[in-house]
Amino acid sequence: MLRSSFSRSLRTIQTRLNQMALHVGAQNSAAEGLTLAEIPKSNNFTSKLPPDPAFETPEASHSVSREHLGPRLVKGALYTYVRPEKPEDPELLGVSPKALEDLGLKLEEAQNPELKEIVSGNRFFWSEEKGGVYPWAQCYGGWQFGEWAGQLGDGRAISLAEITNPKTKVRYELQLKGAGRTPYSRFADGKAVLRSSIREYIVSEALHALGVPTTRALSLTLLPKSKVIRERIEPGAIVARFAETWLRIGTFDILHARNDRDLIRKLAEYVAEDVFPGWESLPGAVRTPQQGGSAADVDDPPRNIPPKEIQGKEGEEQNRFARLYREIVRRNAKTVAAWQAYGFMNGVLNTDNTSIYGLSMDYGPFAFMDNFDPQYTPNHDDHMLRYSYKNQPSIIWWNLVRLGESLGELIGAGDQVDDETFMTKGVSEAQAPVMIKRAETIISQTADEYRTVFLNEYKRLMTRRLGLRVFQESDFDSLFSELLDMMEQLELDFNHFFRRLSELPISELETDEQRQARASVFFHEEGVGGIGNTEESARRRVGEWLAKWRARVLEDWQGVDDGERRDAMKRVNPKFLPRSWILDEVIERVEKKGDREILGRVMNMALHPFEDSWNEKYREEEERFCGDVPRFKRAMMCSCSS
Ligand code: AMP
Ligand code: MG
Repeated sequence: MLRSSFSRSLRTIQTRLNQMALHVGAQNSAAEGLTLAEIPKSNNFTSKLPPDPAFETPEASHSVSREHLGPRLVKGALYTYVRPEKPEDPELLGVSPKALEDLGLKLEEAQNPELKEIVSGNRFFWSEEKGGVYPWAQCYGGWQFGEWAGQLGDGRAISLAEITNPKTKVRYELQLKGAGRTPYSRFADGKAVLRSSIREYIVSEALHALGVPTTRALSLTLLPKSKVIRERIEPGAIVARFAETWLRIGTFDILHARNDRDLIRKLAEYVAEDVFPGWESLPGAVRTPQQGGSAADVDDPPRNIPPKEIQGKEGEEQNRFARLYREIVRRNAKTVAAWQAYGFMNGVLNTDNTSIYGLSMDYGPFAFMDNFDPQYTPNHDDHMLRYSYKNQPSIIWWNLVRLGESLGELIGAGDQVDDETFMTKGVSEAQAPVMIKRAETIISQTADEYRTVFLNEYKRLMTRRLGLRVFQESDFDSLFSELLDMMEQLELDFNHFFRRLSELPISELETDEQRQARASVFFHEEGVGGIGNTEESARRRVGEWLAKWRARVLEDWQGVDDGERRDAMKRVNPKFLPRSWILDEVIERVEKKGDREILGRVMNMALHPFEDSWNEKYREEEERFCGDVPRFKRAMMCSCSS
């Protein structure tokens, strides 16, 4: 009863946000770092959260053959101990140097046979004699395309261990995708194809280089002997990937669906204490000045100021679980703002692909935008355009409302959340109305917070991308919206626009004639597109926008050399993005032509997207990859069969 009334009223809150369809490194010196075998490992996740009761210990799992660890329902647990399948003749195709650095590993690890063994699934950090950390697959569920899909889980991903960078102290969970079947594989084979693995390997690292929160990729391994059946027979592969956490909204969803109150609470506590830096780091905490900082960056002022209405006594109206919810909401708001600002689409924003840490994750049919088109979805099967560019902000909120439902009881309990009877028996009939009301109020206020954080971050990023120093409220309509409308109508390339704008000297845009003459730098090779546009009308429209933009640049950069503005813009507007057509070419060359060099070159470009050039010897190829997207390769779509 309680759960369904939560769901009903929360659905009203979410429709309010559906109107929000907004158009809207340091180098490692070679000798530094550890080997992957040496680096400190831990197993907080498996030691603090309950295992699959069928295989309660590493020994229990290790003693059975892998066939016994196949698909079934797993209840009362957050994971199953399961080892990777041993691959035949794996070939290490690439290692991300930036990933090595961020993990605290030596750059030479890329050549270490021991690393190759680990990232291909041949070796892990546990033995019968010495113990250690045994690999595991997580249990989760999810809402897929708006429908409850039941138990999902890591069907082909197996985590090897948590590893902590000794310098930065950041802890990551290292995981192999495509390492064989697990209890969560359902009807599938536990494998990943080379095609989708190349895409994830390059693009997760590219998003990180752009400053977008994301899961990462350490390496890509080809499994030449593994023949994987999709639309055709394809080679298999493994991506070794890592993230601060792989927990997602779907992890809470499955517990909520099974009404596992104890485990929801336990998981929430784990997230606050073990994934985030502790309860006191969450927004709205009453803290002494000495305690200072917070879990995420401090660049947005509203962060620690709860909306006026909920500034009530901490622990009463807004208890610690409400604050945890707000942290998760805020992180996701920032990430989706970054997707909108850089034209990235996840493609399958189901709750099982929505991180509680606000990371971009999953890497299925994602894409970067070519021509600006708010309706675009890279997902071939998404006929309703549910996960299209313009819907991403409202869909992420839809997912966060599902999380609000899972945490609803804890949020609604207010200061009674630790009462013995609430903990053991749940919400009584008498308490229900007050608690439901409280949860609704907090979640609906968090909706406003989501909107505010999203808009602030979006404005901050767009302001930087347009080379402005200070956001003015009028910029939103006169610059941002007009730019997006113009790009859509003239079918201009979204990301090229910003880079080309970065390179235009302001001194060449003084008169209407100059502006209209320069407008063509934004046009495709074949000329302007869009219904009813002529070369002349397009030049006029772009010229008018450039006039407004120029005035704002002059206002913001008074007296500063224009070269500085151009440099600042180039530092946030990538020249290179691994777009779908480029990934297709890389896949073709690696898979069909045995090219082993292209992957490293493209990864290098992806890791340094703001450079002008990367390797003199390959200048022509680089310019081709950074140039106009070939006409019939724009806005490509992808199926989910990865
Ligand atoms: P995705 O659409 O990639 O987010 O996957 C949804 C669910 O299906 C997750 O639980 C995956 O682990 C599982 N899954 C997808 N592909 C496979 C596969 N080839 N083998 C086993 N499980 C898979
Ligand atoms: Mg997924």
